[in-house]
Amino acid sequence: MKKLALHWQILLGMVLGVLFAFLFIQFDWGKQFIIDWIKPFGNIFINLLKLIAVPLILASLIKGVSDLKDISKLSKMGGRTIGIYLLTTVFAVSIGLAVVNIIKPGKFISEETRIELVGSYSNDANSKIQAAENQKKAGPLQALEDIVPSNIIGAASDNGNMLQVIFFAIFFGIALILIPVESSTPVKAFFDGFNEAILKMIDIIMLAAPFGVFALLASLVAESPSLDLFEALFWYGLCVIIGLSLMLGFYVLIVFIITGKKPQFFINGIAPAQLLAFSTSSSAATLPVTMERVVDNLGVDDEVASFVLPIGATINMDGTSLYQAVAAVFIAQAFGMDLSFGVQLGIIATATLASIGSAAVPGAGMVMLVIVLAQAGIPEAGLALIFAIDRPLDMCRTTVNVTGDAAVSMVVAKSVDKLA
Ligand code: ASP
Repeated sequence: MKKLALHWQILLGMVLGVLFAFLFIQFDWGKQFIIDWIKPFGNIFINLLKLIAVPLILASLIKGVSDLKDISKLSKMGGRTIGIYLLTTVFAVSIGLAVVNIIKPGKFISEETRIELVGSYSNDANSKIQAAENQKKAGPLQALEDIVPSNIIGAASDNGNMLQVIFFAIFFGIALILIPVESSTPVKAFFDGFNEAILKMIDIIMLAAPFGVFALLASLVAESPSLDLFEALFWYGLCVIIGLSLMLGFYVLIVFIITGKKPQFFINGIAPAQLLAFSTSSSAATLPVTMERVVDNLGVDDEVASFVLPIGATINMDGTSLYQAVAAVFIAQAFGMDLSFGVQLGIIATATLASIGSAAVPGAGMVMLVIVLAQAGIPEAGLALIFAIDRPLDMCRTTVNVTGDAAVSMVVAKSVDKLA
């Protein structure tokens, strides 16, 4: 018998979790059973995801930055590529913030549900609210000061300080480029292997995902039987999808304006890679197909594609950054927090960095969301809230990630006169 695809398994886990909890409530078998015996497994699953966040940033960023070494003769293209990637990512986050602030999906959660939710995670919520209070009291340059760690072990041991880990990883990656090849090669080889092992850990953790979501959904329903929650999730998902659709339109437009290629040409050329991205939820797995389509069907020179696309698969995740912005604000709304304009500006910076640090594998964007939440003082327990529909949204955002890489490769190729 053919094995059920992971996204179906996860969907099944979710549906069964909800049904299980509804049955329990319906027949009055006692919610406490779910809270005592099911919920811990959901928490363990979330912990596993959080556990790998720090090593994931270290390995993938150090590898990503130090890989730039191979491009010494392409430094002009390098600057251009990174610059355009950053611009599209910041643009994507801004679109996400605009959509989620207009629709306000978190407001669909009633006062009682909100109190119940915040109450069930009160310790975490309180400490985060406290952290946010402290942040408000700090000076204008505090955020900048906080990026630079005085102790890397200290930074890595504190989830709130992921930006410091990112700072260290980028700094270290740059230093690796600057030292002699004989010295950097073994270190790079180490981080390559380290990175691979981390990606494998994500794979293994994802095997438990159907059970994890079963536990999370069941305890979520048991603790908050209000249907509002699901209504709110519907609007949240819709926000992400509206934002992602706008991004797809933006790429088609930009490609047309800058390269003069018709929308139909771009869409037909990239569609197979998009479908693969949608079904695998991994930009890395899709990369070989993206390269092939971009070179064979979109007229990008091989030299440009082989530089722009692998870097893009690692650091350019417009869909992911947009999703992270929407998710962070949604969770804040659900927890009854009003995010100031300043905090939302901070989200632009952290979601951009978090998407750069996200590995191109299923679910990575959600792991890195912790950074955005921690930095904005939003309760990390809110991850439990959005996990339910994360997989379908992962499929959609990965499609946008891959499309963004392809569009930028065409723009860069055009700028260095390497577009057929
Ligand atoms: N799955 C996405 C990708 O591979 C990353 C994410 O989880 O957002 O592009």
